[in-house]
Amino acid sequence: MNKHTPKKKWGQNFLIDSNIINKIVSSIDFTKNDRLLEIGPGKGAITKKLGENAKSLTAIEIDSKLSNMLKKDCKKNIEIINDDFMKIDLENIDANIIVGNLPYYITTPILFKIFQSKLDWEKGYFLMQKEVAERIVSLPNKKSYGRLTIMCQVFSSPKILFNISPNVFRPVPKVDSSFVEFTRNKKYETIDYIRFENTIRKIFNKRRKKLKNCIDEGMQLNIDSKSELLEKRPENISIEEFIQLIN
Ligand code: SAM
Repeated sequence: MNKHTPKKKWGQNFLIDSNIINKIVSSIDFTKNDRLLEIGPGKGAITKKLGENAKSLTAIEIDSKLSNMLKKDCKKNIEIINDDFMKIDLENIDANIIVGNLPYYITTPILFKIFQSKLDWEKGYFLMQKEVAERIVSLPNKKSYGRLTIMCQVFSSPKILFNISPNVFRPVPKVDSSFVEFTRNKKYETIDYIRFENTIRKIFNKRRKKLKNCIDEGMQLNIDSKSELLEKRPENISIEEFIQLIN
């Protein structure tokens, strides 16, 4: 592969350790029948290994230099698209499993884009900053419990599979990482995503206040004026209670 200078602005920290690369690939539950979507293939650390054993793999890479390098030596069932993941229309992508060593600067927007999309995904496997992964799997009454926790646990069942040290990347990042599995939660797919996300965002903007001081008429919540929930702080309200409140 030609010389490539990593770009900080695109979160380019490439996996270089073959043990970790193999561990990641073997943790992804997929078969020859699955259609994979990879976000940010970079230099292809996991791309070819996954593509060789899947029905197809579509990879979206923002860096035209990297995407041109990858295009040169990929098999026919691997398609490399040079584009910004945040700008592509996921409706045009045929995939049931999404994977990626994510560009950490846009982890939350990537996850929210997937939850909101019409893409018929079943599983997601993402490498991300450990601190973000801990917020995703958090529980009520913890400091790490917030908007990201609720959105992730309503629209999926997230599970941290393992943690990864910074030494397996080049350049070496300043943070620890975690590999997280997301199983789509079909139970709540009828929820109005935009309304749910907007309401959770507004409520958690005032996370230290009691719920009665975080809500307004416009939210049209399912709540009785005598409800005990009104006296609770957002960080003490469970996922089920939020669904009941907003749905
Ligand atoms: N998968 C490679 C690996 O594990 O070595 C690279 C991972 S690196 C953390 C993130 C990759 O995402 C980079 O290749 C970067 O160029 C790409 N990227 C950053 N922002 C992107 C975006 N908005 N859309 C698509 N790719 C993006």
